[in-house]
Amino acid sequence: MQRSVQTPYHKIFNRRTLPPLFFVMTLLITCIGFYYLTNFHYLIIERPGVVVRSRAATNSEGLSTIPEGSKVSQLAHSNNWIKVRYDGSLEGWIPEWLLKDTHLQSDNAITAEFTKQTPVYQEADDKADPITTIPSQSYIPINYEGQGWSQITYEGEPVFVKTEDITIRSTPDVETKLSQEKEKKLSEEAHQKQVEELSNIAIMRKDNEFLYEEASIDSAVVYATEYQQEFTIIDSVSNDEGIDFYLVEDLYGVRGYINQLAISEPVYSIDHRSEPINRNLANATIVLDPGHGGEDPGTISLDQKHYEKNYVLPTAMTLKNTLEALGAKVIMIRSEDVFVDLAERVAISNESKADLFISIHFDSSYDTSFRGITTYYYHPDDDKFAYALNSGLAELDHPNQGVQFGNYQVIRENNLPSLLLELGYITNQEDLSLMQTSEYQQELADGIANGLVNYFDQINLVQ
Ligand SMILES: [Zn+2]
Repeated sequence: MQRSVQTPYHKIFNRRTLPPLFFVMTLLITCIGFYYLTNFHYLIIERPGVVVRSRAATNSEGLSTIPEGSKVSQLAHSNNWIKVRYDGSLEGWIPEWLLKDTHLQSDNAITAEFTKQTPVYQEADDKADPITTIPSQSYIPINYEGQGWSQITYEGEPVFVKTEDITIRSTPDVETKLSQEKEKKLSEEAHQKQVEELSNIAIMRKDNEFLYEEASIDSAVVYATEYQQEFTIIDSVSNDEGIDFYLVEDLYGVRGYINQLAISEPVYSIDHRSEPINRNLANATIVLDPGHGGEDPGTISLDQKHYEKNYVLPTAMTLKNTLEALGAKVIMIRSEDVFVDLAERVAISNESKADLFISIHFDSSYDTSFRGITTYYYHPDDDKFAYALNSGLAELDHPNQGVQFGNYQVIRENNLPSLLLELGYITNQEDLSLMQTSEYQQELADGIANGLVNYFDQINLVQ
C-alpha cells in the first residue's frame, strides 16, 4: 500500500485551489494599485511661492520652497492642507488654498475677508461656544492658518475663526483695495462739499443788467449790477411772462431780483472740462447737436413756412462730413427729424467721452433787420474755445455778432467744452434765403472747421 503524505501546505495549494487563489491575489493587487493611484497621485505645482512646511500650519517651519512646475507626490489630505513628498525624500505640508488662488503671493501676508457675520472662538476648537462674532464686510490680517483654523488678533486678543467661514486674501491686495475705496470716498465727499459751497452762488455775466425790486424787467431798479458781480441765491421765481428770476442778496445784504438769463452758476462748472482730451482735430471726437426736431420746430420764419429744425439738420450734416474729411470723429445728437429732450442731449454728450460739443441753431428777432452769426458759451473756461471758433466764422463774408455769454441748458449742463452757435436769423429775409442753400451751409461748415483748427493750434501753443 502506498502512503501518500498530505501536509497542510498541500491541503491549501493543490490543483483545485490554485486557480481561484491566483484570481483572488490578482484582484487584491489590482485593488491596492488602484488605491495608490487614486490616493497617492502626483501633483504639479503650477505657481511660485509654495513652501513645504513641517506641520499643516503657516507658522510651522518651512522646509523647502518648491519651484514652479515641480512634481510632488500627494500622501495625505487634512483640513485644506496636503501632505506631499518632494524631491524624492522630503515630506511636509502645503496649503491647498494657496494652490487654488493665484492672487495670493505666498502662505504668509494673508488677510481674512469676512463676507458674513462670523463666530469667533477662544481656542481652535468649536466644542466651546463662540466668544463673539465679527461683522461682515470686515478685513483682518491672519496671524497663521492651520488645521482648518485661522488665528487673528481681534480687539487686542489672539482668537480663532474657522478657515471655512472666511475668504483668504492677499494682504497687499486688500490694502490696495481699501486705500482706493478710501480715496474714492474722500473725493466724493470733496465733490459734495464743493456742490454745497457753490450751489447758491450766481455770477452776473452780462453788462447793462440790473438788480430789480420785483421779478420783472419792468419793475423798479435797486441798482445797476457790475459784470462778474456775485450774489447769494435765496429763491427761484418764474414771473407771468415765463422769465426765470432769482431772489438774491449781495455782499452787503441788499436783496433784489436778477434775470437768470444774465447769470452763470459756478455749481454747473464743477464737472466741466476746460479742454479736450485729444489735442488735435484729426483724432478728436466732436458732438454735434442740431437744435430742435420732431414736434419742436424751433424758430419760425415770418411767413410761418420755414422751420429752424429743417435747416440746422442739413447744416450739421454738412459740418459732420467736413470734420470727418479732416479725420475727426463725429457723434450726432440727431440725424433725422426727431424730438430729443434737452436733458437727453446733455446726457448723450456727458456720457460720450468726446472732446468738444457744438450745438447748431438759427436765431429769430422781432426786429427783422437783425442778421448774422453769434457764438455763445456758458462756462467761463470755454471763452477761449468760443473766441477761437468764432474767428473761423468771422472770416466768412457774413455779418458776425461775435462771442456772447448764453445761459442755455445744453451748454450749461455740459461737461465738455461746449458752444451754441446761432448761424443767422430766420426772421431776416437775406439770412433765410442763405440758410436754405447748400453753398451757405458748406461755408458755415468750413468756417467752423477753420475755427476748430485755430482752437487746437491755440491750446497746443499754450502747453
Ligand atoms: Zn434754436
